Amino acid sequence: MIRVYTNRINYQYDLHALIKAFYPEHDIRTMDIAQYSVEDDCGNEVRVEFYDFRLELYIRIDAKGKNYSAYFGSNMTQVSKKWHKLTLYEKLCDYTGRTLPWGNLTGVRPTKLAMGMLAEGVDDDSAVEWLRKEHAVSDEKARLSVDIARREMQILDTVNCRDGYSLYIGIPFCPTTCLYCSFTSYPIAAWKERINEYLNALFKEIDFISEIYNGKPLDTVYVGGGTPTTLEADELARLFGKIRESFSFSGVREFTVEAGRADSITREKLEVMKKYGVTRISINPQTMKEETLRLIGRRHTVLQVKEAFAMARSVGFDNINMDMILGLPNEIEADVENTIHEIEMLNPDSLTVHSLAIKRASRLSQWIEENGISMLINTDNTMRIAREGAERLGMKPYYLYRQKNMSGNFENVGYAREGKYGIYNILIMEEKQTIVALGAGSISKRVYLDGNIKRRENVKEVAQYIERIDEMIERKRVLFSD
Ligand code: SF4
Repeated sequence: MIRVYTNRINYQYDLHALIKAFYPEHDIRTMDIAQYSVEDDCGNEVRVEFYDFRLELYIRIDAKGKNYSAYFGSNMTQVSKKWHKLTLYEKLCDYTGRTLPWGNLTGVRPTKLAMGMLAEGVDDDSAVEWLRKEHAVSDEKARLSVDIARREMQILDTVNCRDGYSLYIGIPFCPTTCLYCSFTSYPIAAWKERINEYLNALFKEIDFISEIYNGKPLDTVYVGGGTPTTLEADELARLFGKIRESFSFSGVREFTVEAGRADSITREKLEVMKKYGVTRISINPQTMKEETLRLIGRRHTVLQVKEAFAMARSVGFDNINMDMILGLPNEIEADVENTIHEIEMLNPDSLTVHSLAIKRASRLSQWIEENGISMLINTDNTMRIAREGAERLGMKPYYLYRQKNMSGNFENVGYAREGKYGIYNILIMEEKQTIVALGAGSISKRVYLDGNIKRRENVKEVAQYIERIDEMIERKRVLFSD
């Protein structure tokens, strides 16, 4: 554990995020410096004291302690948090002898900054320079974010962000729970008998939204989870039938269903999706190494991924995404090379490359305690292998996001061929359009014309969701009825 003491309580979140980025394997505890006591010494500590024009810093983490002082020009009337964060980052670089690819940026949406610059009319090179100077972002990552922001802007120009909306529908069931999962997901076997109850509750939410948003243009529909294809074919038909009869699809640009797990896909289900106008699906191998698939608890084989993909093509899907994860337990560069090679053979239309994120709520945290973090390897090289594979498939990066505690401190990048971009993915990342989210654990986001955003979530637990559906609808009434 690392104890972090500061005299600025409102900096605790930023301090936590920045120190965690350098030391992902440590728990970080931030507290008021008034609580500092030598008796509490756990071996690792950081003391950060902010004064009007000065920063005093002491760092002792897995090594000898070091004191730092930084002075800010006395002509600055107010030293902003941004400068404090940059200075702290520079001192941590000095202490550790390392830099981070994303510099002092710890937020999940770095492309938002680039997009903000471009929207002000700044050219690409200047935006890159700004990210490098103001946030110490590496040249490669700065260019990547500006490149993606530019592409996103072009795609968003074609969407009715101002008046339209998108719909998310969550099906929180999966065949089994993956080692790293932190989503709202429950094993389908435990809920088989109650799926109808879940769908009935969901249909109540659908009825409410279709009534209050009647006449409002719907742009994209995304059915995610969980794994929606854990539902049986007749249940999927009920769900898609309900969606189609409740909303006008005349302006819908994209209808995505996550068919993520190969062990949940059958020809019958694919045919149901095709019949109801699904345009884009995701079939996610995560890795093409059998041992890893077993270790992460996905309980499907590489062959099942290949068969599901071929079946989807034969049913007529011409926009199939695949997800892969870098930094999976015990995987080395050769495994990533193999996964990307196998994916290239399948030739999907888009590829999302994730860096493994270590979430407290996942079983992965336990696995790390038992096996150590050194078996999770994600490097510049594995990122490059994946990127070059996407390039060979004729894809370009079109959306990006980061999560806390990502292996290698990298990012998740969505690559796609021209015309196969996942529009919903951009909308959710850049927060430019209202997203109405239905189902257990979903979070609705209302984007106002002035850029303000309000969120309301549904309860995560399925039984609670069913039982309290009227309350979930009431939450939506408060968020959307004005
Ligand atoms: S498929 Fe996705 S949602 Fe389901 S258990 Fe695995 S990580 Fe979680």
